[in-house]
Amino acid sequence: MTGNLTPTGWTYCEGPWDAAVIGAGPAGSMAARELAAAGARVLLVDRRAFPRDKVCGGCLNGQALAVLRSAGLGDLPGRVGGRALGSFRLGVAGRSLRLELPAGVVVSRERFDAELAAAAVAAGAMFVPGGEARVGGIEGPFRRVRIRRVGDDRTIRARVVLLATGLGGRGLPDGLAPRTRVAPGSRVGMACLVRGGADLYEAGTIHMAVGTPGYVGLVVQDGGGLHVAAALDPAECRWRGGPGAAAAEILAEAGLPALDELTTAAWRGTPGLTRRTRPLADDRLFVLGDAAGYVEPFTGEGIAWALASARAVAGPALDAIERWDVRLADEWERRHGRVVGRRQAICRAATVVLRRPWLVRAACDVVSAVPYPARRLIERLNAPPCFPEMT
Ligand SMILES: Cc1cc2nc3c(=O)[nH]c(=O)nc-3n(C[C@H](O)[C@H](O)[C@H](O)COP(=O)(O)OP(=O)(O)OC[C@H]3O[C@@H](n4cnc5c(N)ncnc54)[C@H](O)[C@@H]3O)c2cc1C
Repeated sequence: MTGNLTPTGWTYCEGPWDAAVIGAGPAGSMAARELAAAGARVLLVDRRAFPRDKVCGGCLNGQALAVLRSAGLGDLPGRVGGRALGSFRLGVAGRSLRLELPAGVVVSRERFDAELAAAAVAAGAMFVPGGEARVGGIEGPFRRVRIRRVGDDRTIRARVVLLATGLGGRGLPDGLAPRTRVAPGSRVGMACLVRGGADLYEAGTIHMAVGTPGYVGLVVQDGGGLHVAAALDPAECRWRGGPGAAAAEILAEAGLPALDELTTAAWRGTPGLTRRTRPLADDRLFVLGDAAGYVEPFTGEGIAWALASARAVAGPALDAIERWDVRLADEWERRHGRVVGRRQAICRAATVVLRRPWLVRAACDVVSAVPYPARRLIERLNAPPCFPEMT
């Protein structure tokens, strides 16, 4: 049951606030909850009305579950109807490979994100949905943030601003230090829900098909539908007449069961996936979650990185509320590198392989013969972050 999302506590005013958190995805809501629980006056704002859906496979890996547990939210995936995931099945060029997953749960992002925002509100944060925010300049010990809602346009002040606007956020104006670069040739994310076809795919498994236009992940959702998420080459996708046709071709190439509904389903997309923001901080500003950088989804790491970076930013953000010191920016770069950077490097290497179906097929043969290295890799990606606050 999703908790109360109505703003409570303080009235929505210009402030000053201790912290303004822009974006109520996993990164923003978890960070807002951490800061509010530590006693800070926190304003959490999202441009969308909540609950809202998000282009995502909705798979929480072992790392995401560990971070939730360490934050006292271990029961959250169960509360939103999460289903356990036990294995990963890869299909490429008619070959199939199955690997056990050490842990995993699939959730509806609509319900998961709403519950996490409700947890931030329960910890004392004020949540303002439907507000498009834009980072402004410095005014004394504060940073300004302009928030536009229907019939309301105001500028608030906060001692620290956390930017957690995901892939498509436009909250960062020119003139600030952090800049996002999208990798040339980056694939785009696409997702849809298919009502039929759940009987063709085993529940509790992440099914992944690799083909020429990209790759497709399928998971049976709570309630029976099939959630389909894909990373597609935009040119190949256009050439085939859209994401449905491209996804259907990938399933056929890989030898996975066909889904007629793919070409008529309502697909939603993201901009280029592989990107990097540097630096990750400016005066009284920290960038986290997908807004800090992302690589193509692989076995479901993005939510884990978002949650882990949210917990890791809390220390520097609380220090910044006390007093801004330029060394906090370096501290955030270091922490982000430890918690997220190393794991993203593994996924970046994996995407190089995923772009070449012949190489995936060869890797499939090698892993079938010698599965140990692949098991170790999956264990590493699922391991809890080695970070003092998260153990
Ligand atoms: C196709 C695909 C499949 C994926 N599958 C998985 C998976 O199975 N498992 C997994 O772990 N990860 C997966 N991911 C990645 C995962 O979805 C993201 O990594 C995760 O959502 C990042 O969380 P976030 O909080 O940084 O950003 P988001 O969840 O994107 O949240 C950002 C929020 O900021 C808000 N916002 C943006 N701009 C503004 C603004 N200017 N003002 C106010 N609000 C703003 C948005 O409305 C949004 O609610 C997938 C991604 C894609 C594209």
